Amino acid sequence: MKKYDKLIFELSRPGRKGYQLPADKFDTDGFSEIPADLLRKEAPVLPEVSELDVVRHYTNLSNKNFGVDTGFYPLGSCTMKYNPKINEEIAAMPEFTALHPLQDASTAQGALELYYNLQKALASLAGLEEFTLNPYAGAHGELTGLMVMRQYHKSRGDHKRTKIIVPDTAHGTNPASAMVSGLEVVEVKSKPNGSIDVEDLKPLLDDTVAGIMMTNPNTVGMFETEILEIADLVHKAGGLLYYDGANLNPLLGKVRPGDMGFDIMHINLHKTFSTPHGGGGPGSGPVGVAKHLTQFLPNPRVRKADDGSFYVDTDGESLGSVSTFFGNFGVMMKAYAYILSLGRDNIRNVGPMATLNANYIKESLKDLYKLPIEGACKHEFVFDGLADKSTGVTTLNVAKRLLDFGFHAPTIYFPLLFHESMMIEPTETESLETLDEFINVMRQVAKEAKEDPEIVKAAPVTTAISHPDETGAAKNPILSYKALKNSAK
Ligand SMILES: *Cc1c(COP(=O)(O)O)cnc(C)c1O
Repeated sequence: MKKYDKLIFELSRPGRKGYQLPADKFDTDGFSEIPADLLRKEAPVLPEVSELDVVRHYTNLSNKNFGVDTGFYPLGSCTMKYNPKINEEIAAMPEFTALHPLQDASTAQGALELYYNLQKALASLAGLEEFTLNPYAGAHGELTGLMVMRQYHKSRGDHKRTKIIVPDTAHGTNPASAMVSGLEVVEVKSKPNGSIDVEDLKPLLDDTVAGIMMTNPNTVGMFETEILEIADLVHKAGGLLYYDGANLNPLLGKVRPGDMGFDIMHINLHKTFSTPHGGGGPGSGPVGVAKHLTQFLPNPRVRKADDGSFYVDTDGESLGSVSTFFGNFGVMMKAYAYILSLGRDNIRNVGPMATLNANYIKESLKDLYKLPIEGACKHEFVFDGLADKSTGVTTLNVAKRLLDFGFHAPTIYFPLLFHESMMIEPTETESLETLDEFINVMRQVAKEAKEDPEIVKAAPVTTAISHPDETGAAKNPILSYKALKNSAK
């Protein structure tokens, strides 16, 4: 494999052209109506390359990508599952993409019906009353949900409730969203098995607590069996329960957060419901609430009239707006298509298959990798590095070595409960053969670590770069040719 491709600017040769615009249509007179002070003084610096150069350049660049469509991607807490291509085609239907958010509701009935039906479908999967699809991402959903929580306490004149309880294993966005929403974060400890320590929780519950943010299965992939007791304790103390449903995959149609006692939740459509994610692509973080909180959801709402038509509504008790218009509609289309294509019965197979796959990998590797929490996991689990700590091979080394075998690395060094965390989530969309291949490679890497640890420490050897200065790359990235030229000077 060729390791380094020239930048397109380095391929440039003066006068070389790929495509020429017809001279008569684009003579300089064509720009005469643009005020002189808005015109460029000098030509932009653009690469001068042939069409073939451009085609090769972009094709080679695209081959450097790694995605779910290229290979196995067991990135825990991220649900990198296969997203059926037909849902992309549906999201591209011009009947929907050509709509304008300000056009009259009577001319956009199909889109409003889709919005309405999707929020109903999510409400039924979640065991909650109503959803808003307006938030753009998981963290945005968290912020919206916590704003609902604050609005609820405010509406009751309960102004003392300014604290939110968050477990020490929570996803980083939880405390961050709590801070942004103006709540003070109080940490509750986890027991060695990763679940919330109820005895540690009890003394935290007083009349200054707005609520608790949790996820179940929790961050280490274990089901919180004491959830009903926790819900009871928090409710008795006057607080609300927020459910981080970014990773709803293990529960779909099987267990409903509403039935566990949660009042508010968000779902990441771009993890569980057929939208690719990563790299900041479009997402959607719908927020659902129990019956006593629906009036606080953000505006605008989509409602169904008695005659069966759909209309856009606003509610005076609402927390306000969290988005321009209705959110990322394309993502909603994919989610709706995904739910309908699976149907009520098949959607209930997602969680058990994801759970089976995770347990299969865990049990097949736990002799060579340290399993800090025994027992059946849900859709993901955590190893604490290699079982044999004498080799000096770290989780980072193993993760990098996996790249040489064509696998994406698992999530590493998260959760912070263990020093060498390696969080693996295979998802339900992988075949037994792929899981076996991954298991074999993980066993091979453990063998290398024992017999010749330098091989693992030197990895990856097949990628374009191997051991970058990670802090430098994050803090001072060179992202443009101009910056590269200046840095070379
Ligand atoms: C991904 C994730 C989030 C945040 O979702 P974004 O869309 O990236 O903002 C929150 N909580 C958990 C548990 C997650 O896995």
